[in-house]
Amino acid sequence: MMASARSLFRRHARLAVAAGLFALAGLASGPVSAQERAKDLFGAEKLPAVGQPRSFGFYSKGCFTGGVAIPMDGPTWQVMRPSRNRRWGHPAMIATIERLSRDAVADGWPGLLIGDIAQPRGGPMTSGHASHQIGLDADIWLTPMPARKLTPSQRESMSATLMVDEKTHLVKDALWTPAHTRLLKRAASYPQVERILVNPGIKKKLCDTVTGDRSWLRKIRPFWGHDYHFHMRIGCQPGSTGCKAQEATPEDDGCGKPLAWWFTEEPWRPAKNPDAPKARDVMTMANLPRECQAVLDAPSPPSAEAATYRGDGTPVAAAPEPEPQPAPPTLSASDAAMPAAASAFAPTPEIGVPLPRPRPGK
Ligand SMILES: [Zn+2]
Repeated sequence: MMASARSLFRRHARLAVAAGLFALAGLASGPVSAQERAKDLFGAEKLPAVGQPRSFGFYSKGCFTGGVAIPMDGPTWQVMRPSRNRRWGHPAMIATIERLSRDAVADGWPGLLIGDIAQPRGGPMTSGHASHQIGLDADIWLTPMPARKLTPSQRESMSATLMVDEKTHLVKDALWTPAHTRLLKRAASYPQVERILVNPGIKKKLCDTVTGDRSWLRKIRPFWGHDYHFHMRIGCQPGSTGCKAQEATPEDDGCGKPLAWWFTEEPWRPAKNPDAPKARDVMTMANLPRECQAVLDAPSPPSAEAATYRGDGTPVAAAPEPEPQPAPPTLSASDAAMPAAASAFAPTPEIGVPLPRPRPGK
């Protein structure tokens, strides 16, 4: 009790100081009060909001509680640009990425380089992305993971491979491989994945080359950018009554007229008002769902490690594990035969202060 009251007090003191600074900054910066700028408040959060995993609002206007981090390294992935602290997401998103990394390796892709997922409590970002605000979006590089472990500075500076020619908007054929296609097909195969955003050139490449089952192409959606990474979006998760779902994609493969539009001049004309502020830059707390203020005010877990994803109670990477774990007594022979596939979709325990676990032998 004392500890939580103290930390609440510290938190409010910190917010008051921050608010004071923002108020000063606000004097110099136009009509939108900097004090209310949601991206500054959410961008300053280092740790998630403790609680059940819940997304509030929409992909481009919201926040979330119960976030977990994907470990910086796993057997089949590495996190890029770690200084941004955007390796947080809804546990279902993190589980989906982990599963994709394993399935992708089985499909012949060397492992995932993971880009931005979300800030610890979501919300508008200080730079980049309009979406990624409710923990249900993730960017995965189209560059295969190198066999070596990248150093922290390489993760900040290594550039991704541009897959699309900027003039023709077509995929560079020398770079595209069947493994790229398999990676996107695998991601689209998960029922919880509703959309995958790619550059129109990549969508066209798939439309032109995929044979056999083409039903998954429905989820592959052309969009500006996305020429060095793809963007995987999962649907609103159970328990998130405040999460606003996205319209379903049309049933067809999307290779006809809507794709042809991208290869006209219209989408590439310079913006009429290139200096107009972006929504995420001017959004205030008043623009976000009401719950987002409570998300900002919620307590944090004791550390990032305490909220780092471990799969089915088992460390999946570098997260420290204090004690050896006993085998769960109910594990059946068939579960044991496929632990990897089973673990990714096992219900994730609520993240917070870790609960004591039974010692082996009891
Ligand atoms: Zn993205």
